[in-house]
Amino acid sequence: MKVKSILASAFIALLAIVPASAQDLRNCGTTEYHQHQLDTDPQLADRMADIETFTNNYVSTHTGQEKAIITIPVVFHVVYNTSAQNISDAVIYAQLDQLNKDFARLNSDAGNTPAAFQGLAANTQIQFCLAQRDPNGAATTGIERRQTTVTSFSSNNAVKYTANGGLNAWNSSQYLNIWSCNLGSGLLGYAQFPGGSAATDGVVCLFSTFGSLTLPGTSAPYNYGRTMTHEVGHWLNLRHIWGDANCGSDLVSDTPTQQTSNYGCPTFPRRTCGNTTNGDMFMNYMDYTDDACMNMFTTGQSARMAALFATGGARVGLTTSLGCTPVSQTGCGTPSGLAASGITTTTATLGWSAVSGATSYNVQYKLASATTFTTTSTTGTSLVLTGLTAASSYQFQVQAVCSSTSGTYSALTSFTTLSTGTTCTDTYESNETRTTAKTIATNSNISARIGTATDKDYFRFSTTSSARNIRVTVDQLPADYDVRLYNSSGSQLAISQNSGTTAESIIRNTNRSGTYFLQVYGYNGAFNASSCYRLRVDVSSSSFKTMSGADDSESIELEPLEALSLFPNPSTGNFTVSLLSDSENDAFVRVFDITGKAVVNTRFAATKGQNLFNVDLTGNAHGIYFVEVNQGATRLVKKLIVE
Ligand SMILES: [Zn+2]
Repeated sequence: MKVKSILASAFIALLAIVPASAQDLRNCGTTEYHQHQLDTDPQLADRMADIETFTNNYVSTHTGQEKAIITIPVVFHVVYNTSAQNISDAVIYAQLDQLNKDFARLNSDAGNTPAAFQGLAANTQIQFCLAQRDPNGAATTGIERRQTTVTSFSSNNAVKYTANGGLNAWNSSQYLNIWSCNLGSGLLGYAQFPGGSAATDGVVCLFSTFGSLTLPGTSAPYNYGRTMTHEVGHWLNLRHIWGDANCGSDLVSDTPTQQTSNYGCPTFPRRTCGNTTNGDMFMNYMDYTDDACMNMFTTGQSARMAALFATGGARVGLTTSLGCTPVSQTGCGTPSGLAASGITTTTATLGWSAVSGATSYNVQYKLASATTFTTTSTTGTSLVLTGLTAASSYQFQVQAVCSSTSGTYSALTSFTTLSTGTTCTDTYESNETRTTAKTIATNSNISARIGTATDKDYFRFSTTSSARNIRVTVDQLPADYDVRLYNSSGSQLAISQNSGTTAESIIRNTNRSGTYFLQVYGYNGAFNASSCYRLRVDVSSSSFKTMSGADDSESIELEPLEALSLFPNPSTGNFTVSLLSDSENDAFVRVFDITGKAVVNTRFAATKGQNLFNVDLTGNAHGIYFVEVNQGATRLVKKLIVE
């Protein structure tokens, strides 16, 4: 009874000398909290004893300074009742900045450490980053907020459970959980030592202690963010510097033994426990002095913390956490170059660029007007969609799937299916024969349709003396179409008959102008009732070349052509000599009349393939002539009628 009475008196006396509220004395709940955890978790003491053994072994051979910097992902759970408790992002950033500066010994007040302790002060090589992805792999700001009906929390962990008015912890092997809330009973904060339950692992701080030396909170003199530095020290296995006992041990070798906690900001040296040299290290973050008075961790404390991150350490999982890796930088990129091709009324082929590391791709598409996607997967970089609705706008996007993670979906890309029957209008029908051919302009696209199995499309165009070279292109073929080129009298000059829907092309470089006819038709009755093809006739003063730059005559698929032919034949006098040559030798062309007299004797440069030479007999008598072509060892003769 006597003892109890004395203690009660002492407590009353203590209150008497503290002029304001209990919050004026630093009150860390960690020791009390820890005792409660030990009481309710019978195995906790054993787990912590194992961690302590591991730590002793580590510290005996390491200083902690040799390790690389460890960066710990942090999530802030802001639980507030009043708007004042809903601390701003700016305040949280300032707090995180102060925490990092304190742990790196980059705090602006590091110079306040007494000279006697400067040599012990440490950069802990531990840093903290705001989480950029949540435990589900989604992007996050690293700050989550909840308004609660709870007006004041205690150290009973309620703030760590959504069901109890707080917010649930994130996976503590990947994140440091920090809760901000209103704490009652003058409590500034409390932390859980390594070894405790994952569901409650982390640090809780009074909302008003959040801040920094440059952006102070509202709980002066505990408003420079040092409450969090202190509590995170606990979370990293540091004890109060006085060992929570009279001249106790904090399990660190380079911190002086001190009698108890210090408050306010003592004058150096403050000597206790028979320490007659430098006295208490009251400026250590693990004491109870004011925020403005704290400025250091020691090398021994740093080594103790580092043990947690060694192989087998209690918090080593944090060293491989992806919590601060942005979602987009996972190594599984976002597909680009999305495009739809081969679009018909009901189908389309989707394509995209390969993503490095992708093992497959998820493709989702929908009608632009719909709200839900159809999702499918493929290992390639294209996908054929079937069963689409005609004349409809669709959207699609693609996501890369890598071995360990998935990337983000690309932006939506749109395409529109063709309309049934009204895809294109053919303004050139009917043009089934050469005599009903429709005249088309050169150097511009036209669109027409082979609408039935017997449909043939004839076109007519002209070249001029300044633009005599011809290139005919028929593409965007909905079926297997071919094209033929005729001269003005209907003689076939060339044919292009590629298989399938490969585009057809005829190049004809010539030295004379004239009128030509084209026939586009379906091979073996091929047609498409809804889709048009595209036709373009280019004429130019320059010779056309094939895509490969090779001699243009090689691009022409010729009907079985005689080595020498003359057209038109009969002629009015002006005619063309067609020579199919297998050499580059000059061709000598002579024309003899019926008496054997040479009326023309000229020389042309020839190339391999078809050569066209213009010969003019205008002014000569009508009748029979013989056209002789000599090229190398080859001699060819044809009869020509002029009338
Ligand atoms: Zn504490």
